[in-house]
Amino acid sequence: MQEESIIDKVKRELTDYLTNNGHRRTIERYTILQFIYESKEDHFDIESLYNAINKEHHVVSKATLYNTMELLVDANLVVRHRFGNNAHYERAYNVDTHHHLICTVCGTIKELKDTGVKEVISAKKLPRFTMSHYSLYIYGICGKCSRKASKNK
Ligand SMILES: [Zn+2]
Ligand SMILES: [Zn+2]
Repeated sequence: MQEESIIDKVKRELTDYLTNNGHRRTIERYTILQFIYESKEDHFDIESLYNAINKEHHVVSKATLYNTMELLVDANLVVRHRFGNNAHYERAYNVDTHHHLICTVCGTIKELKDTGVKEVISAKKLPRFTMSHYSLYIYGICGKCSRKASKNK
């Protein structure tokens, strides 16, 4: 028997979630979930997701997208980050712990996979607290923006 794919797993999680919480199992919700898990983008905001999804499917309204993202966050299938003014989302299932480098000028987000930081944090003894996951945001200026800034001097 073939192993269950990530897509099948998250779809099953969504089905459980929708059923247990009395939400309807609409095709759009599964379309959005699948799209997010097949996407090459790690981080996205509603606007870019909306444009990308409607290029392929032409079925999803913005209201449906907002509503579905709320459900996916609640179901722990998507994580919402608040970087600056915009909410950004990313997949939550089967994702390695990683950190985010955020440019305060252009808003670009880069992922940092640094095992050193990971080791320090997982070795920390947290008094009366059991860690499930964490995220570290490092703010600064990206290479592009600092090159631009030095040119304009
Ligand atoms: Zn930048
Ligand atoms: Zn990320």
